Amino acid sequence: MARTVRLSVLESGMSAERQRELMGEKKEKCGVFGVWGTANAATHCYLGLYAQQHRGQEAAGIAVSNGVGLTAHTGQGLVPEVFNDMVLSRLDAQAKRGAIGHTRYSTAGGSLACNAQPLLESYIGGQVAVAHNGNLVNAGALRRRFEEAGHLFHTTSDTEVVVHLLASPEQQRAVDPLAATLRHLQGAFSIVLLFPDRIEAARDPWGWRPLVLGTLPDGRPVVASETIALDVIGATFDREVEPGEIVTLSDAGVSSRRFAEVADPPAHCVFEHVYFANPASTVFGQNVQVVRESLGAALARESPAEADWVVPMPDSGRSAAIGFARASGIAYREAIVPNRYVGRTFIKPTQAQRVAAVRLKLNVIGDIVRGKRLVIVDDSIVRGTTTKAKIEQVRQAGAREVHLRISCPPIRHPCFFGVDFATRDQLIATGRSVEQVRQFLGVDSLAYLSLEGLLSCVRPPAAHWCTACYSGDYRIDVEHPSTDEVLTPQLRMFS
Ligand code: SF4
Repeated sequence: MARTVRLSVLESGMSAERQRELMGEKKEKCGVFGVWGTANAATHCYLGLYAQQHRGQEAAGIAVSNGVGLTAHTGQGLVPEVFNDMVLSRLDAQAKRGAIGHTRYSTAGGSLACNAQPLLESYIGGQVAVAHNGNLVNAGALRRRFEEAGHLFHTTSDTEVVVHLLASPEQQRAVDPLAATLRHLQGAFSIVLLFPDRIEAARDPWGWRPLVLGTLPDGRPVVASETIALDVIGATFDREVEPGEIVTLSDAGVSSRRFAEVADPPAHCVFEHVYFANPASTVFGQNVQVVRESLGAALARESPAEADWVVPMPDSGRSAAIGFARASGIAYREAIVPNRYVGRTFIKPTQAQRVAAVRLKLNVIGDIVRGKRLVIVDDSIVRGTTTKAKIEQVRQAGAREVHLRISCPPIRHPCFFGVDFATRDQLIATGRSVEQVRQFLGVDSLAYLSLEGLLSCVRPPAAHWCTACYSGDYRIDVEHPSTDEVLTPQLRMFS
């Protein structure tokens, strides 16, 4: 059960694993939300987090400001499990100025109750609550430096180093302590910080993760990972927070300053469009559903197949399958039906149990697939074991041919920027040819969308997208993280 405390991150007794962890092979890290100056700020936050539940199902939290101090409530589980009417009413009563929130899926730090965000801390500058989407590649180096200097950490999350940086004398002496803090971070961060008198929202100079600004009908400002969170509370989309920008939401309105120039080129995560973001969201200037349909159409042009039906792998392959069917002229059929109510207690991590979980999760409609040639469209393959189990189910239901089409290139490299893929040796495509993967999966044909095909569907220029999990081009040195301020010729910092 989650509980509310002041001045400390809460522990929660709930330890529920998510079905998604069993069924899925990729986890996105976190959604953030913030609203300033409106009544019922905590309820707005709750709705904004609910809309971004797909970005993290491991833990959720809300921190609120009454103008003088902060209070937080966090816990493990889904948003509606962490908050009930009583908790929300109490938070709303305390949220006289504003609130921020977070949905979490761990990519750094593990699935521990202490890592639920927002992290709420007291330091020399007062109180601060932090909600972070992304992954800091130099968090380990920074943490070691602080621990050697005697600092105590109470989470295993990479985000905690942000507070230690902010509180350190070096940053506190700076003209702009937050800007000085952010300049020490390397990697991906779309971050929202709540202070008693304001919210500060910032995005790393590469813009790996999305972060958008909006306005409620009463004129109050909102910040969120995705536009779908603005939609559910009736807020309009204003603009993205720019890479390298800090935006302040306060009683004085919205103001902006830079802590760094935009990296040249930036590195927006293309996988947000392939898989992560909600289809209803506009991410990096493009609607996600529209992009995914384009990916499917490009895949149909690159790798056509003779078939009776185009069948989506639910739910991740649905949008691309629609595009594939439209471009190929082959009829679209829903033949694999997900059971959305499975799994809350089905938590066994062995391979046999994973396979059983897949069978419980998906039902194949024999009357549709029996004797038919199918094109099955999915967004990606990570380890391949889940896909293999799904394909076996389709075969057993009587499909005559199975042609698997994947709406992105083979994932051959791990992500260091906020996505929990498997390690390199667990990725099915690493060190294997497409033919070897086809044989492993047991399909009649297998084709991935090319990197060129993927980049032709997102907004140009192509160089502005991170494609590291496909190409291995990480843009920054992930092997040798530094604790110094980031200063490169391409990245002139402002003091
Ligand atoms: S490595 Fe892949 S998943 Fe990670 S940020 Fe880059 S494109 Fe996105």
